[in-house]
Amino acid sequence: MLSKTTKATLLIAEDEESLREALKLNLELEGYEVTAVDNGPAVVRTVKNEYFDLIILDIMLPEMDGITVCETIRMQHNDVPILFLSARNTGADRVEGLKKGGDDYMTKPFNLEELLLRVDKLVTKNKKIKEPQSRPDIYEFEGCKIDFAAHECVDKNSETQELSKKEAALLKLLIEHEGEVVSREQILQIVWGYNVYPTTRTIDNFILNFRKFFEVDSRNPKHFHSIRGIGYKFTK
Ligand code: CA
Repeated sequence: MLSKTTKATLLIAEDEESLREALKLNLELEGYEVTAVDNGPAVVRTVKNEYFDLIILDIMLPEMDGITVCETIRMQHNDVPILFLSARNTGADRVEGLKKGGDDYMTKPFNLEELLLRVDKLVTKNKKIKEPQSRPDIYEFEGCKIDFAAHECVDKNSETQELSKKEAALLKLLIEHEGEVVSREQILQIVWGYNVYPTTRTIDNFILNFRKFFEVDSRNPKHFHSIRGIGYKFTK
């Protein structure tokens, strides 16, 4: 669907599943092509075979820690930019990470917007392929159309509506899990990010909006279902 040559490619190494998924989804919404792994040796293997514009590397990883991964990659003369993520926040750690060849360093929990800005900065600075416009990432169903990259949709009345970043993220999450129930907890973790939770009513309001956009009869939804006490489900 999306051309590899026009998008910056990122590798995420993070063993906390919810954080890994949240990062992947949000970075994809920014237009990056993202590969995600959950242990150190997988990073070393993956970068041997593929080109990446940036690695987001957690320090506390199973089997091989992030610092050792970074050292190993640098010993292989690979100068891919590396952004370290660390649960610890000591000056010594930061210096160690940067000394071993990291380009930037962020402490968890971090602000998602700040991470996206730093990623953009590192990628832009280092990108070999300069082609800023990524192709649209589009999903169509029943006459409606969602353009995740442009953050807009064409609703049931063929009118174009703007989507907020969070609306686009929630739509993408539900559509990627088409036919499956996505729990409130998953939604909060993935769409709202690391430990910044709104009230559950916020999700309900998003779903109500989606129904206004996409349902012919919003009282009898065909696409956006609430499963009482559990979560939400999208069906095509
Ligand atoms: Ca970790």
